[in-house]
Parts: sequence; structure tokens; C-alpha cells
Amino acid sequence: MTLLLRTVQLKTQREPAEGLRIGAVRFLPRGVPKEDYARLDYFDVWLPTLAPSRELLAQFKVTNISIETVLKRYRNEMKQTEARQTIQLLAELAKRTPLAIGCYCEQETRCHRSELFKLIREAAGLSPELPLSEFCIYTIRHPDELSEALKLRRAITWQEHKPWTQGKHLLGNARQNNTRLPILFADATDCTRLTHWAVVSRIDIQAKATRYEFHSLRPLRGRHSPQELTLRSTGVKIAEGFIKPYAICKIPKFLTDSEARLSRESSH
Ligand SMILES: [Zn+2]
Repeated sequence: MTLLLRTVQLKTQREPAEGLRIGAVRFLPRGVPKEDYARLDYFDVWLPTLAPSRELLAQFKVTNISIETVLKRYRNEMKQTEARQTIQLLAELAKRTPLAIGCYCEQETRCHRSELFKLIREAAGLSPELPLSEFCIYTIRHPDELSEALKLRRAITWQEHKPWTQGKHLLGNARQNNTRLPILFADATDCTRLTHWAVVSRIDIQAKATRYEFHSLRPLRGRHSPQELTLRSTGVKIAEGFIKPYAICKIPKFLTDSEARLSRESSH
């Protein structure tokens, strides 16, 4: 079963087949007449029941409380009957008709909608996270940069001097198929070791350069090498001494296995 559910930033242009746009926000847009909410792509329905409380909203803006803590509190607020039943309703609706749940925040990873998305999936009897796509992007990065990025615990944007055309295409496909596109990082100092992975959230190509955004960066468990990866183009494993900074690969089994383990752990 797939849910016809996606998340959106309110007031962004609607995508085809997006369906009903729901504003899961505490406050109405300021200075906008009620009859213009839908026309200006804010939302079709306002649903403040699924927004964080005023107290909690204030905490989203404070940076010394971790976003994980704030999202946990939001999850707790959604346990009260009215919210819980509304989530259940959306879960049943999304099995039949496309829904988009949205908020004003630009960064999804720092917004309650990322958590709401998971809650609706759980209410539909699905695992909270979307499955990983069939392919992944392979790239290289210096270990110091990756350790620094790991500390930030937010979405990160990096640049590459090469157009990631296939990668952009893959991301579009992943969205359409309701999957997450992983990116695997190898140690750029000698390219012999895969060290981290993350989920790609955006790829922009401009003048042959690429800006890509990713979130949920994690170190890989155990020791893995690029030679465990199979190139999509040739169906052959990455050869030793491969130093290209970018490739499209089939998703390795160790990644899907570790994901399955993670989602089992988080459901307990
Ligand atoms: Zn938000």
C-alpha cells in the first residue's frame, strides 16, 4: 500500500497531482483575505489542530533546544484525542486521494511537518520513514568536513563542479515513487573507504556546477569500501583505484539492512 501523501512549504507553487493542500499551521497568513488562501497557494484547508501549540512554536525558534527534543514534544502533543483522530482521518484519506501537508517553514528538517508526515504514515500502518530508493549517489568528501557536518544536525548544502544531471533525475524519480534518495560519502583522501551516508533533499544545477542539499547524515556502521558498490551504468562493481568524485550506484545491501534495523529500533 502506498500513501498519496507529501509535505509542502505553504505559498510555493503547487505541483501537478499534489491534491488537497492542508495548512497544518497555528496562525493564518497575515494580511491575506480568506478567499485568497487557495488562490495564492497557501492552502485549501486550514487545520490548526495539527500545528504545534503556541508554547512549543516558541521553542522551535530557540536554537539551544535540539530539534529532536522539540519534535518529540510535538509528537506528544499529537497524542491528545482530537489531534490523534485527525491524523487517523488523514491516514485513511491519503490511501484514497492525494494530500499535501504544509507549513510556512522553508527547512523541512526543522519543521513539525516532517514529524507529522511520519505520524500519518504510522497511523496508516506503515513504517514512519519512506523506503530507500533503488539507486544512490556516490561521492567523496574530506573526513574533517563530514565530521563537522555531523555536528550541525541540520540540512546541509554542498557544491560540486560537475553537473549531477543523472542525480537530479534520480531525485525526481525517488519523489514520484515515494522513496528517499541516499547519498554515500567516501573518504576523499584516498577513496578506499565509505564513511557516511545521508538523504538527498535537493539538487540544483547551474552553469555546469551542482548544489546539493542533504539531511540525516550518519556515519556508516562497520567498515565498507567503494568496491562494494555496483555502478548503474555498467552493472559492474567499482574498481579499485576508482577516484571519480561522482557516480550513480545500486543501493548496497548493507544500507538497506542498517535502515531496516534502525526503523525496528525506533518503533520500540
Ligand atoms: Zn513549520
